[in-house]
Amino acid sequence: MSINPSPVSIRRIPQRTCVACRKVKAKRELIRLVRVADGGMEVDTSGKKAGRGAYLCRVQECWEAGLKGGRLAHSLRTTLTEDNQEQLIRHGKETFKESVSGKVR
Ligand SMILES: [Zn+2]
Repeated sequence: MSINPSPVSIRRIPQRTCVACRKVKAKRELIRLVRVADGGMEVDTSGKKAGRGAYLCRVQECWEAGLKGGRLAHSLRTTLTEDNQEQLIRHGKETFKESVSGKVR
């Protein structure tokens, strides 16, 4: 029996595509959103929620483009209500304002 003399196995970093800018990034650099059973979507902070998921960059720009342009809803095959959209945009603002210090709203 021959053993494959493979060198140190290459650890592949899982990569995902941002639905807003279509850039491929390491999964941990993106934020996962999952479709919820009763419609709409929510932020998956653990990254382990079950269900159809989509990813967005951790930047306000992509966040808003994905939500407002309907790309996120489309990719999750769900409909985003105004309330849901507002709630997620607000979440984004709270999440990203720390990383973009110096930017006053
Ligand atoms: Zn992006």
